[in-house]
Amino acid sequence: MTETIVKLKKKYRNKILKGYPLIEKDAILDKNKLDKQGMVLKIIDEDNKFIAKGYYGKQNKGIGWILTYKENIKINQDFFRDKIKEALYLRKKMYANQETTAFRTFNGEGDNIGGLTIDYYDGYYLINWYSEGIYKFKDYVITALKELTSFKGIYEKKRFNTGGKYIDDDDFVLGERASFPLIVKENNVNFAVYLNEGAMVGFFLDQREVRNIIKEKYSKGKNVLNTFSYTGAFSVFAAKGGAKKTTSVDLANRSRKKTIEQFKINDIDESKHDIIVEDVFKYFKYAVKKKLTYDMVILDPPSFAKSKKYIFSASKDYTNLLIQAINITKNNGIIVASTNCSNFDMDRFKDFINKAFKETNEHYKIIQEFSLPSDFKKNNIYKESNYLKVVFIQKSTIYLED
Ligand code: SAH
Repeated sequence: MTETIVKLKKKYRNKILKGYPLIEKDAILDKNKLDKQGMVLKIIDEDNKFIAKGYYGKQNKGIGWILTYKENIKINQDFFRDKIKEALYLRKKMYANQETTAFRTFNGEGDNIGGLTIDYYDGYYLINWYSEGIYKFKDYVITALKELTSFKGIYEKKRFNTGGKYIDDDDFVLGERASFPLIVKENNVNFAVYLNEGAMVGFFLDQREVRNIIKEKYSKGKNVLNTFSYTGAFSVFAAKGGAKKTTSVDLANRSRKKTIEQFKINDIDESKHDIIVEDVFKYFKYAVKKKLTYDMVILDPPSFAKSKKYIFSASKDYTNLLIQAINITKNNGIIVASTNCSNFDMDRFKDFINKAFKETNEHYKIIQEFSLPSDFKKNNIYKESNYLKVVFIQKSTIYLED
């Protein structure tokens, strides 16, 4: 591929040299040269010294990603093959594990190509393209997967519409089509996924460790409330772990059908569990009125959501969400507070937790914390990629020593 030489503004130089992988919106001096997404950029500084190579691809985050700091490396088929090969090697154990057949194979800038993720679902690959730019390298990625792996089929999601939104399409790329639902396993629990039904697959792979610990350690005999439950993944794992009862609450109509499906494919009698299609904030009020309390309350809201009555923004409203959860959690019960919001870090998340407990005059102890699992490989210089924060909090009326 031909390379276009572009100049980096001085103020971005050190940041990029330290390994920051994102090419920010305003970083390139001769912007007029950026005309075709997918073009390979040879980035030099204002003194004409080589800095790095990257590609031009517009995302809401920036205008491209750094690919290499070596001038002699070409961005070609071999480059993509090498990066994908390295990523596959790092997940070798996951491919060998028959109890879990769905995981992330390639994690964007964590695996040194920003804007591209590849997930594995029991023989099928799902490629996420986050810009028109990275989509231009499609042949390289597909050829690498063909050469390095054996698979049944490949699907893709184009997430490069304005604002990173998904473009509705037939997402099948090649190989054989899967029949849906495709049943994958996670720690021996079944899950129904759909690779060709719009933007969502039905399952968030990054919560694997959290689901497992909920099943193994926190559910036996418990009455569990799962809020923002979506397809009910946490409820299924709680039920599998021996929960007396789960209550799943989600605003979206689809959530009832989807949750029943997940229960069914795991031989769980769904009539013993409640699935409620309602606004979570309305449900909290109802629970207080009816004096309902829970041994465990799971909170996994989106970073931002608008319902008829409420707007929820994780960075502004998480404390309030916690206060409502504290009010209906039994003494010594557990609150699982989760967020995928990249606007704040774990320390600030813990401030929200502290504030909520102060306001309710209750004590608490943090008993476990999770961030992304290892298949969601992080780029340590790019802090935003470490978005997941999950905290297990025990509520107590007395102060608990660590
Ligand atoms: N916990 C889920 C993922 C949650 S995705 C899992 O583990 O799979 C976020 C969900 O929140 C969506 O399904 C959306 O419908 C729901 N949601 C957003 N705002 C809501 C509200 N005010 N009340 C109830 N559900 C809401």
